[in-house]
Amino acid sequence: MCAVVGVFGAEDASKLAYYALFAMQHRGQESTGISSADGERIHLIKKRGLVTDVFHQGRLKLLEGSCAIGHNRYSTAGKDSVLDAQPVFAKYKLGEISVAHNGNLTNKYEVRDELIEKGAIFQTGMDTENIVHLIAKSSEDKLKDRIKDMLTKIEGAYCLIIQSRTKMFVVRDRFGIRPLSLGKLKNGGYIVASETCAFDLVGAEFVRDVEPGEMLTFTKGKEPKSEMIFEADPHPCAFEYIYFARPDSIIAGKTVYNMRLEMGKQLAKETPAKIDLVLPVPDSGVAAAKGYADGMGVPFEMGIVRNHYVGRTFIEPTQEIRDLKVKLKLSPIKDMIAGKSVAIVDDSLVRGTTSLQIVRMLKEAGAKEVHMRIAAPEIKFPCRYGIDTASKNELISAYKTVEEVRAYIGADSLGFLSVDGLKESLGDDTKYSLVSFDGEYFAGGNADSPGCSAYA
Ligand code: AMP
Repeated sequence: MCAVVGVFGAEDASKLAYYALFAMQHRGQESTGISSADGERIHLIKKRGLVTDVFHQGRLKLLEGSCAIGHNRYSTAGKDSVLDAQPVFAKYKLGEISVAHNGNLTNKYEVRDELIEKGAIFQTGMDTENIVHLIAKSSEDKLKDRIKDMLTKIEGAYCLIIQSRTKMFVVRDRFGIRPLSLGKLKNGGYIVASETCAFDLVGAEFVRDVEPGEMLTFTKGKEPKSEMIFEADPHPCAFEYIYFARPDSIIAGKTVYNMRLEMGKQLAKETPAKIDLVLPVPDSGVAAAKGYADGMGVPFEMGIVRNHYVGRTFIEPTQEIRDLKVKLKLSPIKDMIAGKSVAIVDDSLVRGTTSLQIVRMLKEAGAKEVHMRIAAPEIKFPCRYGIDTASKNELISAYKTVEEVRAYIGADSLGFLSVDGLKESLGDDTKYSLVSFDGEYFAGGNADSPGCSAYA
């Protein structure tokens, strides 16, 4: 969840940040913000809403300076306060600072309680405020050293972009859980963004990923300075490839679309079905369904039409609204489906709501048999590293067997990708964060600890 961007050394920095945030709108739709630095002060605009609603020419003009950082915030059930928008700005001993954060700190309550004990006050429940406080409280003389000091006190998943009036600092946690890449701008300057799809829109050239454990310092007139703060232990998040990232983005050298095709092909090997047709759940299941159809040697059809004017189903707080929204969003092409045995492929199954509704919809459209295929393993554990997957008691696969879930959603068969199959699809050149599937909380936290949406 969430997107971050940082632009440094560009005349129209805030405009470029705006374009980058627009390209990464899928990572968060609740609120958006940009802060810019003109050498003397930091300007900030952040509001609830989509990037194109919040920013227009007039507002961008106010965001002067050659450095701009920005953030899109993911919607979490029931929490929609504008106070939770980022970047977080503060004045402190060394001047002004602005912070954008993607990820989730697993020790946020320990750190917060300690800070409160010492008299700190908080405006929001966001872990990002911890970061600002830790920097402000550090006794180091330079901001860079204060940031390093702060980094020794936080744990979990983070991609951080920190702006002062003259500099920009970028840090990625040592596990590299959330993606973060560095690009070079055409007319000079650099851009750092959660996803490479942002570079394509602003015409930036991809340079490399920010390394796990790395800190980059951007200073006027100089090339970015790289320092390894922590020893890297890469565990890129498998869920970025499964669902979250845009298919045209490249994460750790791998194009997301290709990974989804591989997962679909692997799914065909592991759970074939006697079918006439493969349909995707649009848009999330499209690439995996294509892979499944290719693997099965069966035609692929866009047999379910999506209404693009409805938001994501997952973000709606009550079950009743969620149920209705699937129908508002998706509708089958009856001619294509009636009398056929179909496989319907989605990228993941969380509560089972989408699958249940779609199976029912396809049966009502006259399908002879409906075989549900999920191009991810069963989600049994809540992620604590920045993907907002419900709490454990809402995860249907945490409590039900595959057969019980099949019965619940009313499909003729149900197949998940195995954890080994997922690893094989992604390639065995690195370890992945598979915490939702295997419950190995390698970066701190556990199934019962508060997740991203559990803000105070
Ligand atoms: P559910 O209906 O609860 O089983 O959720 C599964 C659907 O939600 C699938 O269509 C996924 O594409 C989508 N999904 C999975 N994870 C997330 C997430 N973290 N945020 C939003 N949507 C998600």
